[in-house]
Amino acid sequence: PSVLTSGELGARGHSRPHVVFVPSAGMGHLLQFFRFIGALSSHDVDISVVTVFPTVSAAEADHFAALFRDFPAVRRLDFNLLPFDASEFPGADPFLLRWEALRRSLHLLGPVIAGVTPRVTAIVTDVTLVSHVNPIAEDLRLQCHVLYVSSAAMMSLCSYFPVYLDNKDAQADVGDVDIPGVRRLKRSWLPQPLLDLNKLFTKQFIENGREIVKTDGVLINTFDALEPVALAALRDGKVVRGFPPVFAVGPHSSLASETTKGAAEAEGSPMAWLRQQPPRSVVYVAFGSRCAVSHEQIREIAAGLEASGSRFLWILKTTVVDRDDDAVLRDVLGDGFLERVRGRGMVTKAWVDQDAVLRDPAVGLFLSHSGWNSVIEAATAGVPLLAWPRGGDHRVAATVVASSGVGVWMEHWSWDGEDWVVSREEIGVKVKEMMADAAVRERAAKVGEEVAKAVAVGGTSHTGILDFVAKLKAT
Ligand code: UDP
Ligand code: UDP
Repeated sequence: PSVLTSGELGARGHSRPHVVFVPSAGMGHLLQFFRFIGALSSHDVDISVVTVFPTVSAAEADHFAALFRDFPAVRRLDFNLLPFDASEFPGADPFLLRWEALRRSLHLLGPVIAGVTPRVTAIVTDVTLVSHVNPIAEDLRLQCHVLYVSSAAMMSLCSYFPVYLDNKDAQADVGDVDIPGVRRLKRSWLPQPLLDLNKLFTKQFIENGREIVKTDGVLINTFDALEPVALAALRDGKVVRGFPPVFAVGPHSSLASETTKGAAEAEGSPMAWLRQQPPRSVVYVAFGSRCAVSHEQIREIAAGLEASGSRFLWILKTTVVDRDDDAVLRDVLGDGFLERVRGRGMVTKAWVDQDAVLRDPAVGLFLSHSGWNSVIEAATAGVPLLAWPRGGDHRVAATVVASSGVGVWMEHWSWDGEDWVVSREEIGVKVKEMMADAAVRERAAKVGEEVAKAVAVGGTSHTGILDFVAKLKAT
């Protein structure tokens, strides 16, 4: 984007919107913010980003730095958190704790935003913060939008859940949730914390769900052809009456800075290795940025991949926060495994450019935890996804995987907190079967074509962004 001189700013200041992004934490959230900011920066809009250092993970710090390096016109608004005593929540997820620390500091954000020039017109925030950010926007008379990083199906749960609780007998357990106009979600598919209304996550989730309805708009990283039913139900007010405008603007394109070419393609790197493999011969195995799988389960996955006979690229994480991961692969995988699979299997703990991996012609299958970003990236690449949800919104995302043709959902495979592992035999057989399944491959490729149409000029997601920019200008 071109940087305007102050004269130009003065002359055009009234019509040119200034959007302040207030992101939260976790790569699954931040990457989507950065990619959307990249897309928006080619429009006639000023952009600032509220930034909190230090970040929870190293990957977040790297990607923040890349954003400001690659988009010099994007302003950085530094924001300091108030001291936060995490001992109130023993054992809680570090990213959830950061969301809470942010929420408790956000009353300091109003003056920061009020003092920014050129004058701010709108705030775009993360769902995890919206119950605290929307009132600030209202006070300042600014538009407030949510950039939602999960599916439209999950948005329908998020906004309907408080209504569901209001209508249910207070003593009764949380059961299946039948979302009007969308579908019935089984109790066992809900993010696990929602079954306990006293959990920190659940309290945030309910407050945020109630507030969303009061915002000016919701941007969702999905597209009409992928989730037609959930999007229509949200827009028609079937899920919650008076729901704000929904802009389906996904998939966001990845940024050039995510492809750290040189380093990423150095000899021995996953990308370099992938380029040498035959078309559709490799199973890509990854459980997102923050999903730690037990050592016992890792051994079963390893043996299953070995037995499948396929080539594989496996991104293995053993801790929730990357900085803590000091496990030695050889110890985790067991003696001899890496030697036995040498040449046909690659395992790494490093950050890879997943979007580039999925687009590589060598990849034939994605064994995934079914995090929403992974689902939408597989859809974009037209690569079949074998969904093994682990927790959070993964099972809700898996309903979309199964209904849209992106892939296959192993509904009975273990879920975090369940005390059993999926066996090597079952993993090996399923991987082999899916690698050979032409029908599955064809369905996924069709979804890839739908993505191309949605983001092309005149496509639904392209139009979604234009509608959003028009809304910003309608202040
Ligand atoms: N979420 C939500 N409302 C909230 C908090 C979270 O809708 O108040 C969504 C969030 O977008 C995420 C999902 O709930 O997609 C489950 O979050 P999870 O614990 O899996 O963490 P994440 O995968 O987002 O890091
Ligand atoms: N990701 C990546 N390289 C990695 C690990 C993750 O590029 O080594 C990206 C992945 O492409 C996706 C995001 O990080 O965009 C993870 O989001 P997802 O919703 O799939 O899972 P989460 O990490 O939130 O559980």
